[in-house]
Amino acid sequence: MTDTTGSSTGGPTGGPTGGPTGGIDPALLEIIVCPDCRGDLAVVTASGATELVCQACGLAYPVRDDIPVLLVDEARRPA
Ligand SMILES: [Zn+2]
Repeated sequence: MTDTTGSSTGGPTGGPTGGPTGGIDPALLEIIVCPDCRGDLAVVTASGATELVCQACGLAYPVRDDIPVLLVDEARRPA
């Protein structure tokens, strides 16, 4: 039995965990945007905490258990 159509497992982007995405699925990062202004989000890791910082408005969204919390109410606003 061979399944040549199976593409749900693995993938070409398999890389080491704990990389530049802070444990966040790179595919997820590709599709999520700032809920406030729809700007691109950049992963910022500091002191073990990971945030997604909007490159447009500067809001920093927390990441909990590798899950981005894209709520404006939860975001840290730039000074
Ligand atoms: Zn924004």
